[in-house]
Amino acid sequence: MTMQFTDRVERVEPSATLAISNLASKLEADGVDVVDLSVGEPDFPTPENVVEAGKAALDAGHTGYTPSNGVPELKEAIVGKLEADGLDYTTDEVIVTPGGKQALYETFQTLVDDGDEVVLLDPAWVSYEAMAKLAGGSLSRIDLSESAFQLEPVLDELAATVSDDTELLVINSPSNPSGAVFTDAALEGVRDLAVDHDVTVISDEIYDTVTYGVEQTSLGALDGMGDRTVTINGFSKAYSMTGWRLGYLAAPESLIEQAGKLHSHSVSCAANFVQRAGIEALENTEESVAEMRNAFESRRDMLVELFAEHGIDVPVPDGAFYMMLPVDGDDQAWCEGAIEEAHVATVPGSAFGTPGYARLSYAASEERLREGVERLADAGYI
Ligand code: PMP
Ligand code: GLU
Repeated sequence: MTMQFTDRVERVEPSATLAISNLASKLEADGVDVVDLSVGEPDFPTPENVVEAGKAALDAGHTGYTPSNGVPELKEAIVGKLEADGLDYTTDEVIVTPGGKQALYETFQTLVDDGDEVVLLDPAWVSYEAMAKLAGGSLSRIDLSESAFQLEPVLDELAATVSDDTELLVINSPSNPSGAVFTDAALEGVRDLAVDHDVTVISDEIYDTVTYGVEQTSLGALDGMGDRTVTINGFSKAYSMTGWRLGYLAAPESLIEQAGKLHSHSVSCAANFVQRAGIEALENTEESVAEMRNAFESRRDMLVELFAEHGIDVPVPDGAFYMMLPVDGDDQAWCEGAIEEAHVATVPGSAFGTPGYARLSYAASEERLREGVERLADAGYI
């Protein structure tokens, strides 16, 4: 029998970041020592007290379903965290999801109909395009690669693209993959356009704890944005909890009502004991979060210096744990060669809509990062 697949799944590709990390794992299983700078996953253990809270929750029997949108205590802790960011949400305006990815997926499915325009800022994290396409959206893209990945210098271009027909705009600051943190003036520019054209904006703030010497501003805290922003966040990056699968969306109650239907019919709820551990993560991890951020900052500085020694100026990122390395020629071929010959795994910029770069995740030890740069140099890639 030949199965017929839907147009919506056939119009997307598998996640490029995960595909390369799978390839790196496969090479490693074959005995190859790969310096894996592909996937965006902190290389630190989940903070001990969070692990203990998860275990205690299991021991206490928190193994059943929870209310679909999340356990009240976690939603309260989330509202408290958002409040500290200047965001005014109630517990009825939050859905707790298995990962930030699910929060984004539910948001796209709830807001985007066939043919609706979704505006992305390139480079944009791989899954935004896929999620927009799965929902039937049509994409418009603004290139930030000529402005050192900053939005403020290209607000005019954004203004020329966003119109009354735009349904959704996606902002991700600090950005995956560029590490750029958008200025307040850039975010105010976004606000003005969103208000003028009545556009809903996703603000994906999953890297908000990882900034270096600059402050990240929450878009939804700006005047006029409260009722048109969907704030996305998650526990994977800030608390090194990628495998726990925990995230959330916060939005006006009308959106929560609609997205909550999707949530209840698909995942039912996020895992019960994981949600309990999430409370501990939000309330008692200040030190661990600061330690991870400091380590990322030293690694960023080290990498920028190492590349400079090889005559390469990388745009210096102000946040997240990624950087965009300018590469010669076809970036896909460069990345394929780098993994096969130098055994260094990176992700082609074109997967994020920005050819000519390779994205490096520096969520790896300084020793491995040095090794990676040496291998790239020895094999003639830099
Ligand atoms: N947004 C961005 C920008 C990301 O890089 C990621 C990383 N996977 C996510 C959302 C989702 O992460 P998770 O589902 O692990 O919370
Ligand atoms: N967001 C991470 C990355 O960009 C994890 C992989 C993914 O979910 O795509 O590498």
